[in-house]
Amino acid sequence: MKLYAKIILLLLALISVAFWANIHFSRKAVAAAMSGQIGDAAEGAAAHMSEDLRSALVSGSEMKALKALQAYMQRTGALYCGLLAPDGTVLAHTNVAITGARLNDPLFLRARETRAMAWDRIVFNGQPILDAVIPVQPKNSSGEDLMFVGLEGNKPSPGFLRAGLPLTPASKAEGQIQYHLLLIGLAVAVIAVILGAFSAHVILRQVNLLAEGIRKVRGGHFGVTVPVVSSDELGEAALSFNKLCQDLSDTTVSRDYLDSVLESLPDPLLITDEEGWIIKSNRAASEFSGYELSGPEKINMKDILEQHTDGAGEPFALLSWSGRISELDLWVKAKDGRRLPAMLSAVFIGSEGHRQIVSLLKDTTRHREAEARMSQYIKDLAAVNSELDAFAHTVSHDLKEPLRGIEMFSGMLLSDHAAPLEPQAADYLGRIARAAGRMRKLIDDLLSYSRISRIRNPYETASTRQLAGQAVSELAAMIDERKAEVAVSDSLPEIYCDPVKLRQVFHNLVTNAMKYNDRPAPKVTVSAEKFGEYYWKFSVADNGIGIPAQYFEEIFTMFKRLHARGEYGGGTGAGLAIVRKIIEEHNGKIWVESAEGEGSTFFFLLPEDLRRKP
Ligand code: ADP
Repeated sequence: MKLYAKIILLLLALISVAFWANIHFSRKAVAAAMSGQIGDAAEGAAAHMSEDLRSALVSGSEMKALKALQAYMQRTGALYCGLLAPDGTVLAHTNVAITGARLNDPLFLRARETRAMAWDRIVFNGQPILDAVIPVQPKNSSGEDLMFVGLEGNKPSPGFLRAGLPLTPASKAEGQIQYHLLLIGLAVAVIAVILGAFSAHVILRQVNLLAEGIRKVRGGHFGVTVPVVSSDELGEAALSFNKLCQDLSDTTVSRDYLDSVLESLPDPLLITDEEGWIIKSNRAASEFSGYELSGPEKINMKDILEQHTDGAGEPFALLSWSGRISELDLWVKAKDGRRLPAMLSAVFIGSEGHRQIVSLLKDTTRHREAEARMSQYIKDLAAVNSELDAFAHTVSHDLKEPLRGIEMFSGMLLSDHAAPLEPQAADYLGRIARAAGRMRKLIDDLLSYSRISRIRNPYETASTRQLAGQAVSELAAMIDERKAEVAVSDSLPEIYCDPVKLRQVFHNLVTNAMKYNDRPAPKVTVSAEKFGEYYWKFSVADNGIGIPAQYFEEIFTMFKRLHARGEYGGGTGAGLAIVRKIIEEHNGKIWVESAEGEGSTFFFLLPEDLRRKP
C-alpha cells in the first residue's frame, strides 16, 4: 500500500477512535445528568408528599396508599409507582398484581443501605425509564434533614416509594446532542483528511522525487539529479543521493554508454541467461538472424543455432563444460529459413547463480566463399602443376634420345675419325659433345625435379638421424677428398616422412656445404631442435664461402647458380630447388642464413607427424 494511503488511513483511524470516545463519554455524561435531574424532581415530589405517603405507610391501608400513589403519579407523570415497607414488602402498587410481594432487588437494597434515593435506567414496555427507589422521610424530618438524609442514614425510614419515571424528554435531548456531536465529528474528520492529504503530499513530494531518481539509476542512467524541495532530513537524503549519482556516473559505465557500444558493434552480439533465453542483443544480431530479438517475444538462442554434424558438440554444453567457447563453427538458422555459416565465441559473466552468457557471432559467409574459392584454386594449381610435371617428364625423356645420339656420334667422330679432321673442326666437335653432355645433365636434373611430385614413396616414421647418416656415408669419397668433418647430431628425431626423399635433402645440403667451401678442412654440422608442439627445426651449417643476402631466396629456384659453370665443381642449379620441393611436399619450409666468407646455415621446419593438424 502506498505511504500516502497509509497516512490517510492512520488519520482516519485516529479520528474514528477520538470520535467514538467523544460520543460515548458525552452520551454517558448527558444521560447521567438528565437522569439525575429527573430523579431529583421525583425525589422533590416525594418530599412534598411525604406526609401522605408516610401516613399511608404507617396506617398500612392499601387504599390510602393507592390514593397517595395516584397523586404522586399525577404530579410526576410516573408510569408506575408503589409503596414498600422497610423490608421491601409491597404495601400498594399501581400494578396490583405485585402487592404483598417482597422486592429485595439490588436497587432496593442499595437505597435501604444508603437511606438515599437510588435509581437505574431500565427499559419498560419498550421505553427507557428511570426506576427510582426513594426513602419516605420520618415524621420529624425537617427540610434540612431531608438534605442530609443520605449522609445521616441512621434515622429509620417508614418505607420507600418506588417509581418508574419516563425519560422521554431526556432521550430527546440526548439524541439532539448526539446528532450535533456527529455533525461536528464528521466535519472534523473531513478537515483532518484534507489536512492529512495535504501534509502527506508535502512530505511525500521529496520521497516521490527520490523514488523517481532511484528508478532511473536502476534503469542504468547514473547521471541523475533529484530536485531538493525540502530542507529536512528528506532533503538531506536527496542531497546525498545526488552526490552518490555523481560519483556513480564518474566511476561507472552507464547503460546508455554500454548500449551505444553494443549497437556500434558490426558483429552480432547476444546476452542470454544460462538457459539460453536472449536478454539483450544488438542490431547486427537482429539483422543477421532476421528475428526481432529485442521485441516482446522471448527467443532462445539454442533454437537459432545449429551445430555442424562434424562439430565439437552442442555449443551450450560445450560452454558449461569448458567455461568459454572460442570461434566454434556452426550454422545460424535465419528466420527466412536460410542456414548462415557463423563462428561463435562465448563466455560467462556475472557470479554463480546470476550468470549470463555473452555470445559473439561472426558471419563467415564471405570467409567460407573465399575458402571454397581458394581450395578450387589449389585444386586447379595442382592439376596444372602435375600436367607441367608430366610435360617436363615427357619432354625430357624425348629430348634425351636425340641428345644421346649427338653425344654418341660426336664421341665416335672424335675417337675414330679424329685424324682427317681439321683441328678447328675437332675443337667444334668437342664443344658439341660437351654441350650435349651438359644438356643431358640438365635434362636429368629436370627429370629428378619432376619425379619428386610424380613419384609417391610410402610415408613412414623414420629416424632422420639414420637418413642423414646414410647420406653422409654416400658422400664418403667426397668427404675424404675434401678432408671434411661432417657431424650429425644425436638430437635428430624420428618423424613421419618419405624417407627416400628426405635422405636426398640431407644429401644435397651436405654436398653443397662441402662444395661451396674453400677451406682446407670444411666443417659441416647437421642438427635439429623442437620448434613448438608440432615442428622440428633442422639445420645444416657449414664454414664455407657464404651467400650474399640478396640471393637468399633466388638460390632455391630451378637452375639458379651463383657461379661460373666450372667453378666449385660445376652443377646445374637444381639441387636446392629439389630440396625445397621435397620440404614443401612435407608441409615444411626452408630458408638460409649466411654471412659471406664465414659460412651458411640452411634451416628447414618439418612437422613431427603431418597427419596431425597444428
Ligand atoms: P648447384 O650446386 O648445382 O649449383 P644448387 O641448387 O645446389 O645448385 O645451388 C644453387 C646455388 O646456391 C649454388 O650455385 C651456390 O652458388 C649456392 N649455394 C648452395 N649451397 C651453398 C652453400 N652451402 N654455400 C654457399 N653457396 C651455396
